[in-house]
Amino acid sequence: MTSDLVHHGESFDGTPLGFATKSIHLGNGVDAETGAIRRPITLANAYALPYDPSDINWSSSDTNLYARNGHPNQRYLEAKLANLEGTEDAVVLASGVAALAATFTTVLNRGDHAVFSDTTYVAAYRLLNQILPEKYGIETSIVDSSDARNIAKAIRPNTKLVHIETPANPTLKVTDIEAAATIAHEAGALLSVDNTFNSPFNVRPADLGADIVIESLTKYVNGHGDALGGAIATRKEITDQIRFTYQVNYGGIISPFNAWLINRGSVTLPLRMRQHNASALAVARHLESLPQVRFVAYPGLESHPHHEVAARQLARPDAGFGGVLAFGLDTDHDGHNRFVSKLNVITSAVSLGHDESLIVFLGEDDERQYLYPQEFHRGFFRLAVGLEDTDDLIRDTDHALAEAGL
Ligand SMILES: *Cc1c(COP(=O)(O)O)cnc(C)c1O
Repeated sequence: MTSDLVHHGESFDGTPLGFATKSIHLGNGVDAETGAIRRPITLANAYALPYDPSDINWSSSDTNLYARNGHPNQRYLEAKLANLEGTEDAVVLASGVAALAATFTTVLNRGDHAVFSDTTYVAAYRLLNQILPEKYGIETSIVDSSDARNIAKAIRPNTKLVHIETPANPTLKVTDIEAAATIAHEAGALLSVDNTFNSPFNVRPADLGADIVIESLTKYVNGHGDALGGAIATRKEITDQIRFTYQVNYGGIISPFNAWLINRGSVTLPLRMRQHNASALAVARHLESLPQVRFVAYPGLESHPHHEVAARQLARPDAGFGGVLAFGLDTDHDGHNRFVSKLNVITSAVSLGHDESLIVFLGEDDERQYLYPQEFHRGFFRLAVGLEDTDDLIRDTDHALAEAGL
């Protein structure tokens, strides 16, 4: 039976439990009413009020009141994620983008400045490059953070946040988290890290000095491609503010069902990540050996310009470099599409971190092409290597290359 100690991530003698044990036991418990050893999904919107409700704080998020103020399935998942990320607290919201928007709108005020990576998830780019400057008077600078000196050069007296994404979607550029943290802290700013591509199994940014860790739970943490969610793992002082602003008053709450699905999916996170890491490395090595392949970007390859930094950041001996890689073929626009049309196992769809492998062709006219390294300018694929047999994935790509006449 899962004891209270286990709920805090410790074994009987105070030794910290391993990542797999915690992924299984944290966030689960015995249902008080039925004795079921799986916690139920509590779908209710509202909870019974006390005899005199007149002095209740209707924006409170720590009692069961109304589901937007917080609900049990959200809290179980938050407890697990805070422990896996190694932070004091975590808040789980409706999506990864909600987690990004919550962080930016909570930490930044009118007149503040933020520095951010030149490759980020597109919503982070739109928020920081356009929406927050135009609507809320926030100043921002976009830099190639894979060279941390660029972050230092962009710091201003009013810099309050450095936001990096590593490995970055979709270029796979890697940023040195420790170096970015040092620069941010010397400037009195916070460092937020979008850790979605690594997941806390591969890299724990909080251990490397990050103040705020963001995960799109939609991807590896859930792992099954059937729910949206996002997490912000950080100090309680910041999660309290995020719950008050973005969760209760902007309404970015996750649904109980999605929180439950993600909690269930996260049980196998360590097993899945080991397989994603191993398969992606094998597929990347194979692609790199093919004459039809113009370039492969994967931090686990020795040829990746930031391979050493990526290796230094790994959280545990059996960690790896994630499941996502980018590559381009030595062909034109139609040749790339023809290749995808001949794949049988790998599915053409966005997203990543699912059980199945997903590929997306990003053509030559992406609005942020000018920010990508030169080799990405002729069109490229983002391939999210799934959990199928590695040999089947390699055979599928080889077969599609031949069928496409490449
Ligand atoms: C998918 C993704 C997001 C956005 O997450 P959603 O859950 O789709 O809102 C943010 N950052 C990265 C790196 C992503 O891959």
